[in-house]
Amino acid sequence: MGTAAGPGNLAGVRHILLVLSGKGGVGKSTISAELALALRHAGKKVGILDVDLCGPSIPRMLRAQGRAVHQCDGGWVPVFVDQEQSISLMSVGFLLENPDEAVVWRGPKKNALIKQFVSDVAWGQLDYLVVDTPPGTSDEHMATVDALRPYSPLGALVVTTPQAVSVGDVRRELTFCRKTGLQVLGVVENMSGFVCPHCAECTNVFSRGGGEELATLAGVPFLGSVPLDPELCGSLEEGRDFIRDFPKSSAFPALFSIAQKV
Ligand code: ADP
Repeated sequence: MGTAAGPGNLAGVRHILLVLSGKGGVGKSTISAELALALRHAGKKVGILDVDLCGPSIPRMLRAQGRAVHQCDGGWVPVFVDQEQSISLMSVGFLLENPDEAVVWRGPKKNALIKQFVSDVAWGQLDYLVVDTPPGTSDEHMATVDALRPYSPLGALVVTTPQAVSVGDVRRELTFCRKTGLQVLGVVENMSGFVCPHCAECTNVFSRGGGEELATLAGVPFLGSVPLDPELCGSLEEGRDFIRDFPKSSAFPALFSIAQKV
């Protein structure tokens, strides 16, 4: 487990899940947010650390945009996104005066903020900390892994869409995990088919099965396929809790089962 106990570090966090993807737009932030909601639904206390510094989308997805981060003796107090205070969130989005402002920082400044997010946030006791990372593999990923390494268990979830091009990007993510000694908890295939809400037939909008094939080839677990789901997309646009409000929709079973495997 973590190093010295204290309110402003991760010593009280039981599991850390890094969510990675080879490129943007595959649903990495969506999976991070929904995984947090599904874990909360299963009675867990969850934190989300949004280190996607140039595209922080979690505050918008969880309707926490514009909320303020306060300081306490232990550091920054994360924002609670729900009334029950079971999901806390820290994001660079809370530190910008204008949500549309771009983070135009050089690497060292970004890396310093990532270190601060890890050491100076008063997370308290959490069952899971879900870390939404930028797409690809960059200095920011190295800074994140280095800062989190003393805290364990630390594992990565790699999100891909089914197409070969996305799967190729994921191969690089898996190489990154191997080189940095990061345990891969598994691959999630997102946007794998569209389930018609009228007849329940599944149309494979892209190709199918790429994520599972890749996981098999790489010898890592395959955690599940999440279909394209208009209700999921809509709930994120409206900042609604998909897991609580849409249990009958097509993406629900996959998201729920992934949460049970991590
Ligand atoms: P990334 O973090 O990889 O850049 P996002 O999570 O921001 O990608 O997702 C990109 C867009 O796709 C968002 O508008 C999101 O609502 C939508 N999306 C992601 N996954 C699904 C899904 N399974 N069903 C429907 N819409 C999805």
